[in-house]
Amino acid sequence: MIQRDISTYGLVGFPVKHSLSPLMHNTAFKLLGAEANYELFSLEESELDGFFSELKEESSPIFGLNVTIPYKEKVIKYLDGISPFAEKVGAVNTIVIMEDRRLIGYNTDGPGFIAHLEELKFSFNKKRVAIMGAGGAARALVTALCIAPNRPQSLKICDIDKGKTDNLINDLGERINVGIVEAVNSIDDLNIELADLLLNATPIGMKETDPVLIEEDLLHQDMLVYDLIYNPSETTLLKIAKDRGANTSNGLGMLFYQGVLAFQHWAEGEIPDKVKKAMRQALEKGLAQK
Ligand code: NAP
Repeated sequence: MIQRDISTYGLVGFPVKHSLSPLMHNTAFKLLGAEANYELFSLEESELDGFFSELKEESSPIFGLNVTIPYKEKVIKYLDGISPFAEKVGAVNTIVIMEDRRLIGYNTDGPGFIAHLEELKFSFNKKRVAIMGAGGAARALVTALCIAPNRPQSLKICDIDKGKTDNLINDLGERINVGIVEAVNSIDDLNIELADLLLNATPIGMKETDPVLIEEDLLHQDMLVYDLIYNPSETTLLKIAKDRGANTSNGLGMLFYQGVLAFQHWAEGEIPDKVKKAMRQALEKGLAQK
C-alpha cells in the first residue's frame, strides 16, 4: 500500500458527511509516510453499480474502502471474496481491492467491539448480556459473541420490531450456533436488573431529545452499560447508568478498533502502536470539536 504513488481509500455510505473516519485514517497515512488519502463517497443506491464497476478498472486509484449504513449488506454482491467472519455476519464494513482489482470483503465491527471490551477488561465468560436493537451493528456483535471462545452465558435481544430480532436469529442460526441468544418481545423482558452487560445498539440517544429506553432503577453497579453511540460522547443512558454506579463506555473505542483492523487489512500487516495512538487521539480530538 505504501509504495504506490497516490492511492485512494474511503468510506461508502449515505449519509457520510459527519464521519470521523477520514481523520483517523489520514492521520495514519501521514505518520506512515504513505502517498494515500481517505475520502468520503456519499452514494445514492442507484450509483452503487457504476461505482463498483469503475472500481474494477485497472486505472482506478481506489485500493480500500469502508462501508457504512445503509450498504453493509448490499455491497456483498459486488465482491469476489468474503472473509469467513463477514460471511457469518452477512455484512461487510471493509473492502480490500487487490492489485488485480479483485474485491475482498471483511467485517471489523464485531472484532472491533470485542477488542474494545478486552481493553476495558470485561470478560464475557458466564455473563448475561442484554442488547437493545437488532440492526446491522447488533448483527455483528451477536455473531462475534456467539463464536467467541469465552462466549456469554446468555444473550437477550429486543428491537422495536420483533420480526427483525427473529429474522436476525433465524438468519444467523443458519451459519452459527445461536443457542445462547433469545429474542424477547420488549425491553422489559431483557431482565436488565440481572444483566452484566447492557448494549445499546439502537440510534436512540444520538439526539438530545431522545427518550431513555429503559427504567432507570434496573441499572446497577455490577454491570457495564455500553452505548455504541459515540456522539454525543455521553448519552443520557450513560449519564443515568453512571449515576446508578454502573461502569459505562461509549462506542468510540469500537470505532477506533474497527478502523485499526480495517487499516491493517489494507496494509496487510500490523500498524505500529504509536500510529494507533495517534489515530485514537485524532478521533478524540475530532469528536471534541463536533
Ligand atoms: P440500524 O441498522 O438502523 O439498527 C438499529 C436498530 O435499532 C433498528 O432495527 C431499529 O429499528 C432499532 N430501534 C430503533 N429504535 C428502537 C427502540 N426504541 N427500541 C428498540 N429498537 C429500536 O443501525 P446500526 O448500524 O445497527 O447502528 C446502531 C447504532 O450503533 C447507531 O447509533 C450507530 O451509530 C452505532 N454504531 C456504532 C459503531 C461504533 O463503531 N461505535 C458501529 C456501528 C454502529 P427501526 O429500523 O425500526 O428504527
